[in-house]
Amino acid sequence: MRNKQKSWAKLWLLLPLLSLLIALSACGKNIAQEDVVQRVKKTNEITWGVKSDTRLFGLMNIKTGKIQGFDVDIAKAISKEIFGDQVKINFVPVTSNTRLPLLKNGNVEGLVSTMTITPERKKEIDFSDVYFNAGQAIIVKKGSKIKSVKDLTKGTKVIGIQGSNSVDNIKKAAPNTQVLQLSDAAQAFTALKSDQGDAMTTDNGILYGLVSDDPSYQVVGGTFTSEPYGIGINKGQKKFRTAINQALKTIEKDGTYQKIVDKWFKKISGFDGSVVK
Ligand code: GLU
Repeated sequence: MRNKQKSWAKLWLLLPLLSLLIALSACGKNIAQEDVVQRVKKTNEITWGVKSDTRLFGLMNIKTGKIQGFDVDIAKAISKEIFGDQVKINFVPVTSNTRLPLLKNGNVEGLVSTMTITPERKKEIDFSDVYFNAGQAIIVKKGSKIKSVKDLTKGTKVIGIQGSNSVDNIKKAAPNTQVLQLSDAAQAFTALKSDQGDAMTTDNGILYGLVSDDPSYQVVGGTFTSEPYGIGINKGQKKFRTAINQALKTIEKDGTYQKIVDKWFKKISGFDGSVVK
């Protein structure tokens, strides 16, 4: 009995230590866990992660220093819809490989970055409803013997982008080809142009953006996967997610979404810019 009493007494001694630990852990609350809607309403500023090397979706205009593209316009439309026309919208360049850590560390509040909603990613972050339907394809130099993913057999090499699910998909679709991974789309296309591979693979829209810049390359064989894009946000941001989904519905209804689709994809022959239904 005495011993029991003693150990209870010891526990009481631990109480101040316990409360200190709780207080410290509250101080260390990751910025990514703070309520985004509340914070942006206060600061009137929001930061999105977008691609900056991906023509049509997010590409840095070296003359203006601004990033332009479909994803950028979607991010702008949604921000204005949720927070009003006066909200300051910042863009941080991300790659397929850096986007998840940048979001999870709180460097950006959301990702509009050609990102497919996948079950693996859903374990780490949350997604909005689908805002764009892409599909994976390949590009080759015009005149290449490779006409579709089926021709990527033993002895061929395909170039992909680190951190994209395209590299996992291609290993399934063409298990005997060799896959060379580069850190972003620009580097991957440069490698293809310098004959470091027979083909390059990623989503069709991204590939159409690349070939629109260099007509000696072409998209072949159609799409062989389905890549529904979602806006990535941190887990626990329920209010933000609801607001984004509501904003997506509104811009679809009022025609803003279609205007953005037409602006970026209407002039791209062969690519219909398959949109959300
Ligand atoms: N949509 C694919 C993905 O999310 C490929 C494009 C990209 O990496 O951004 O992995």
